[in-house]
Amino acid sequence: MIHGEIHQNVRQYINGRWETSATTGVSVNPSDTSEVVAEYARADRRQADIAIRAATEAFAHWSHSTPQRRADVLDRIGAELLARKDDLGLLLAREEGKTLPEAVAEVARAGQVFKFFAGEAIRGGAGSGGGENLASVRAGVQIDVTREPVGVVGVITPWNSPFVIPAWKIAPALAHGNSVVFKPAELVPACGWALAEIISRAALPAGTFNLLMGSGREVGQALVDSPLVDALSFTGSAANGERVLQAVGLRRAKVQLETGGKNALVVLADADLDRAVDCAVQGAYFSAGQRCTASSRLIVESAVHDAFVAKLRQRLKALTIGHALERGVDIGPVADEERLAQNLAWVGIARNEGAEHVWGGEALERATTGHYMSPALFLAKPAHRIAREEIFGPLACVLRADDYDEALALCNDTPFGLCAGICTNSLKHAMHFRRHAVVGMTMVNLPTAGVDFHVPFGGRKGSGYGPREQGRHAAEFYTTVKTGYMLA
Ligand code: NAD
Repeated sequence: MIHGEIHQNVRQYINGRWETSATTGVSVNPSDTSEVVAEYARADRRQADIAIRAATEAFAHWSHSTPQRRADVLDRIGAELLARKDDLGLLLAREEGKTLPEAVAEVARAGQVFKFFAGEAIRGGAGSGGGENLASVRAGVQIDVTREPVGVVGVITPWNSPFVIPAWKIAPALAHGNSVVFKPAELVPACGWALAEIISRAALPAGTFNLLMGSGREVGQALVDSPLVDALSFTGSAANGERVLQAVGLRRAKVQLETGGKNALVVLADADLDRAVDCAVQGAYFSAGQRCTASSRLIVESAVHDAFVAKLRQRLKALTIGHALERGVDIGPVADEERLAQNLAWVGIARNEGAEHVWGGEALERATTGHYMSPALFLAKPAHRIAREEIFGPLACVLRADDYDEALALCNDTPFGLCAGICTNSLKHAMHFRRHAVVGMTMVNLPTAGVDFHVPFGGRKGSGYGPREQGRHAAEFYTTVKTGYMLA
């Protein structure tokens, strides 16, 4: 396989300038670990403080910019992402390991997110004139309720969707008149930098948007701790989310978390079994299972349990696992060596706790040295760790349920609550499930992974905290409400 371009100019973007740092790092291609994708600058706390101060100063101007100006900036960013989805998709596939079609689709979605919030800046953005006008209970007094920008927003993101997750935080933050300091995950600096490079040419005032690449412990923590960061939007693991929540909450800044999932796909006896297997394969294994919305628990009604497992096993056997850029590959590598080792350790845990092995779970060798593994399927009991803890890799388990009621109880028997799906032809059960699954998103006869860009995204219980992301509901987090009284 021929190696692609090495990105060597991957620097911080602080106060409208590209800056080097005292230390550097590299990102490598998980499909071919001999290929360096980027050499990047690693920021420290001093640079983080400079970026945060620049964002604070820029806020004074940007928060009073016109809705049209904000819309123009976001529209321009969205248009470039859409126009360059192929070359940026290639970068994403090389740095994170998603297959090329998955990566191109993610970049396109990031473009659509910016386009959506370009419209939102005018339709419902802070300062766009929306809000409520009410009569007071007192004679002659008028009230209006309006939204204003919050201030400096810290954006901390994971590696698994390095274009679209930053997009769905940065776009609404800017649309509503906030300034931004963005810290991407360490595995994917070039994707964060490529997005920042597009934003840097969109005619924003210096300091309105800043990029800091570096460690969570130093740079992420600087955003969490700084009294100048007014709102912090974090997507990542539940454990880090908990730390962020405690620290940001304690200093009374706004905080929004999107953390892990242990999502269920329920398959009832009356389901179209081929469609259900399709939903399971897509939801549990595509993007190597590295999606917070992945269906890692397949809860199947006894009457179709064995038939479902047999069909799913057949499908898993037929999947092609390989280099993310190769045509016809269904599943790319997992993101790095540590994740591969963790996933294989989960296979060991599953075997040790007595789960019945159905398929896969082995490290694979390919023409290039990469982090490849076969998708794994086990039959588990509800108490097994593989049925309770987030794995974030291509491993799913099947749980048997006697009937719909037991399936729903199993679905809700988890500390997480991001999304849940059901495959059924019963309108009664579908409607009941939509109301009673304790999650933020439900899917009927659809995979749990794969969502739209213009509607709320997020979860309940251990999967999230604070207002939802995306769509019009994003205003809840990226604005603050002001109530004005006036004697008429
Ligand atoms: P992670 O928690 O290791 O890292 C996420 C981000 O937090 C990174 O940028 C990291 O550098 C930073 N970070 C780490 N320690 C920090 C600290 N002390 N202070 C501030 N920032 C810190 O998560 P990950 O491994 O990158 O991503 C995988 C996790 O993300 C999974 O648990 C997955 O479920 C979750 N995720 C959730 C959603 C969702 O919307 N619910 C979406 C995608 C991923």
